[in-house]
Amino acid sequence: MSVIESMHINGVWRSATAGGTRDVLDPADASVLAVVAEGDADDTDAAVAAARDAFDNGPWPGTPATERAGLLRRVADLLQRDREEIALTESRDTGKTLEEGRVDVDDVTAAFRYFADLIVNESGGRVVDAGSADVHSVVVHEPVGVCAMITPWNYPLLQASWKVAPALAAGNTFVLKPSEVTPLSTVHLLRLLAEAGLPTGVANLVTGAGNPVGARLAEHPGVDLVSFTGGLASGTKVAQAAAPTVKKVALELGGKNPNVVFADACDTDERFDHAVDQALNAAFIHSGQVCSAGARLVIEESVRSRFVTELAERASRIRLGRGTEDGVECGPLVSEQQLAKTEAYVASALAQGATLRCGGERPKPSEVRPASGYFYCPTVLDDCDRSMRVVREETFGPILTVETFRTEDEAVALANDTDYGLAGAVFSSDTARARRIAARLRHGTVWINDFHPYLPQAEWGGFGKSGVGRELGPHGLAEYRETKHVYENLRPAPVRWFAG
Ligand code: NAD
Repeated sequence: MSVIESMHINGVWRSATAGGTRDVLDPADASVLAVVAEGDADDTDAAVAAARDAFDNGPWPGTPATERAGLLRRVADLLQRDREEIALTESRDTGKTLEEGRVDVDDVTAAFRYFADLIVNESGGRVVDAGSADVHSVVVHEPVGVCAMITPWNYPLLQASWKVAPALAAGNTFVLKPSEVTPLSTVHLLRLLAEAGLPTGVANLVTGAGNPVGARLAEHPGVDLVSFTGGLASGTKVAQAAAPTVKKVALELGGKNPNVVFADACDTDERFDHAVDQALNAAFIHSGQVCSAGARLVIEESVRSRFVTELAERASRIRLGRGTEDGVECGPLVSEQQLAKTEAYVASALAQGATLRCGGERPKPSEVRPASGYFYCPTVLDDCDRSMRVVREETFGPILTVETFRTEDEAVALANDTDYGLAGAVFSSDTARARRIAARLRHGTVWINDFHPYLPQAEWGGFGKSGVGRELGPHGLAEYRETKHVYENLRPAPVRWFAG
């Protein structure tokens, strides 16, 4: 298989300087999907130098907002033109279903359009009353400079775009490092940026491992901002590596997200069906490999038995298989490592007293095609509590744990009893109660009677150890900007602080 020139540095597609390569695997059958360049610290330095030069000497930071918006809209159009191809790439690379891949392309398209609209509708500065008619005082926003972006494997195109779109909207240049496990859709995105007419050197891509490529970006003195999406352990290292150069740091980390279900959310057959359906979506979409996965069902004791029985029954019917095949509802886990991690979490939960209600094993070879893929059955673990690792830590697999409560206070205490704080949901037919609980949840996104939707115009990010900063929304643009106060003396005259 020929090596894809997957690195884009200073407008040139190239392989790694030292000749390194990496096999990108199809998680559905462990075959080699592509061979890409494996960059190193030297490639990273070259990419930062290109982005630095494009920022310091190139046209992009000074390009009018309307032109920047025009480019973002062209990218959005190109994403739609290539929708099917990108969705297929994403599905093959990550294992997610083709339909999920299509949804990702549409969401990403919306994000590019949103940031285009945002910048053309701005006023261009905030005039401040300086308390004197002889002073003109204005607060303006400028691009930060060279941005380093490091992204994970679960939503490769989407996580990259949530950074690329606002960074370009604000006039920055960047170096992007996708996950070494799933780089292919990001390569496609960079091709579209070039096709849309982005000036040379503005967008650079280095494919390679977290260490050295990501680590070098985080510590690099030529980088002004590092925006990282990934796990807590790597995010902590990024923040530490970035500290000596005091660059701006944005972190989008993991979650251990509670799905709080009250008995009154199940008081009619229709509502019961809705709540169970959403609990399934919350936990098992993309085989649970979602930062906002509702992996903790926190349910009122009185409905627990009926709810969990129905949930486990439906979870055991989820159709596993290759994400590109019709009728498949869940693809494989992304890697052998992720599969082993899932197996270890289930084993530890059972050893700590959890009750297995469904799953808890790999499907039998006769039950899934291809049999060699990294598949794991959707798993429901009952009788869980906070002493268990499976409840405290992000498993990032198809595992749902069940905890129960009797009162609102207990529900809130359980839902907030996590180091993370990315997202959570409350299901109740009592609107006042649902809003009361939502107000008390210490999570960056709270859904009421729903799970998972997000909007490009609404901020996304976490409380606690789920991260620092926000993506999307106006704040998602502000992350890529410096703020400058320009104070202009309209009547210059000596002030005579010093007599001489
Ligand atoms: P990861 O932390 O292993 O890797 C993420 C990225 O960081 C990869 O590109 C990796 O190569 C790089 N990296 C690894 N070590 C590094 C280092 N020392 N310095 C710099 N970069 C380094 O995460 P993952 O397994 O790819 O993704 C899963 C994680 O991402 C989960 O924890 C999930 O919750 C999180 N995530 C969060 C969000 C969010 O919006 N908050 C979204 C998606 C995924």
